[in-house]
Amino acid sequence: MCIFCQIINKEIPAEIIYENDEMIAFNDIHPKTKTHILIVPKKHIDTIKDMDESEEDEVLVGKMVLKARDIAREKNLDGYQLLFNVGKSAGQIIFHIHLHLMSNG
Ligand code: AMP
Ligand code: ZN
Repeated sequence: MCIFCQIINKEIPAEIIYENDEMIAFNDIHPKTKTHILIVPKKHIDTIKDMDESEEDEVLVGKMVLKARDIAREKNLDGYQLLFNVGKSAGQIIFHIHLHLMSNG
């Protein structure tokens, strides 16, 4: 089972910021910015490349972006970056899709 599925299943710890039936958000273990949170769907999908045209996946990726927006708002972040690394050559190291929410302000 992948490391993010293990976090979702509470088999390994994480600093959880938000959780519902579909998603979990937790602090990145090696933050690259002052705030660095990962928004992770509970459904295991390896990469954005593996998402399909189903309404389920379209809605899921939209909810991830809006959840990142809500967390940023709650934390009073002014500007931030939302990033998907897609594929090994782009720097993806965990093959369970996740959205990086990164901010220094
Ligand atoms: P990516 O390069 O997009 O696959 O990013 C994976 C991210 O997951 C990196 O920023 C890592 O620091 C982070 N990460 C790896 N293991 C953990 C963990 N156990 N808990 C929290 N974040 C993690
Ligand atoms: Zn997984």
